[in-house]
Order: sequence, then C-alpha cells, then structure tokens
Amino acid sequence: RAGVPYSVITRNPDGASELEGRGAPVLIADYMRAGLLRDLNVASARALVIVDDDTEMTERTVSVVRSVAPELRLITRATSPEGFQGLQSLGAQHILTAPREVAAGILDLLTPPEVTRADITRHLAEHPPVTLNATQRAQCEHAAHNAGPVTPEADVCLECVAQGDTWVHLRVCMTCGHVGCCDSSRNKHATAHARRQDHPVIRSAEPGETWAYCYEHQWTK
Ligand SMILES: [Zn+2]
Ligand SMILES: [Zn+2]
Ligand SMILES: [Zn+2]
Repeated sequence: RAGVPYSVITRNPDGASELEGRGAPVLIADYMRAGLLRDLNVASARALVIVDDDTEMTERTVSVVRSVAPELRLITRATSPEGFQGLQSLGAQHILTAPREVAAGILDLLTPPEVTRADITRHLAEHPPVTLNATQRAQCEHAAHNAGPVTPEADVCLECVAQGDTWVHLRVCMTCGHVGCCDSSRNKHATAHARRQDHPVIRSAEPGETWAYCYEHQWTK
C-alpha cells in the first residue's frame, strides 16, 4: 500500500493462493535452499523480511540467508526472549516482537522517504484495531475465541482492487483482519475468505457499524 515493490516466497500453497488472489507476486519454493536464494539474487534486495511463526524455522532461514548474502538487511520476528537472543547471535539486525510492531517496523524500514512516520501513525490511528463487544462474544464459542482485537488490513477490498472490480460493503475477519466485500457484492470475498480459511466470525467494516456475524451459527448482533 506504500508503493514499495516486493515479492513473497512461501512454502505454503494455501497462503500463496490467498496472496495471489490479492494481486501479490508470489513464488512457491523452499526458501531454506541456498541455491534458490542465490538464483533469485536475494543479495541485491533492499531487505529480506522473515515472518515465520516458528522460531526454529526462522533461525534456520537466517543462517542460510547469511551464507548467501552476508550484508543483506534482515528483518525478523521473535516470539520469546530466547528467540530474540538466538536471532541476534545469528546476525539478524532488526528483530521485532508484537505483531503491530512488526507491521510498523517493516513500514519504517522499507517505505520510500516521501512516506513519513507521521503518515503511518496517522494511518494506524484512522484504522484502529476492532473487537467484539461482550454481547457479541457471548453468542458462540467462535465469537468468544475470535473477538479481536484485529487491525483491518485495508479500507478497500484488496481482492476486488486486484481484479479491477468494485464492491458494495466491507466486512472484516475477526480472526485475522482480512477485509473483504459483502454478499451483496458481485465477488462476495468476505464469505469466500471465511469458508476457505475457516474463520467464522466477521464484523462490519463500514464506518459507524459495529454488528458482527458468525457463519457457523448464523447470528447477527
Ligand atoms: Zn459461531
Ligand atoms: Zn471483493
Ligand atoms: Zn480471516
């Protein structure tokens, strides 16, 4: 969204097809193979962001990348103090912790100079995290466990934008923050996401609206 060119390497076909649906350039490959990283000339990138949830996988990837591109700026994510130290000793320069810090930190390091930190702060303030209220949380176990807070990933339907289409209303997934178009829209991307990812609870992403819905239990509150 900041206009920074990027590409994604993932080993997960489901994740790849979801990203491709949103217009992201994706390569399905094993990024722990040094030969692949060399063929991709990863050393010429401005930075490499490693966002695996698994600390051990992250550490292995950092080691392989370091053997191919010793100077490359590495941005990684740690989920524990031990993980932080491990990544530091392997030579990762930028180790982020909370998900929000990861997003803000990646933007900080990669955005072009014309996008200022103030722009990003303003954007985050205009798009605060959303949660379900107590009444909604009490509706079903899905709502209780997917109550947020999530930060809506966009204020457009990225999948519609990617295919040059329009939408009627926007919905936000309370499990992951995905934003998709409603069932009155031609593409029904919110429902497609809920079914594909098994993320049953959505909330309206329209300004001023707070109602939520569970696809499994089919309540609206
Ligand atoms: Zn439910
Ligand atoms: Zn859509
Ligand atoms: Zn989701």
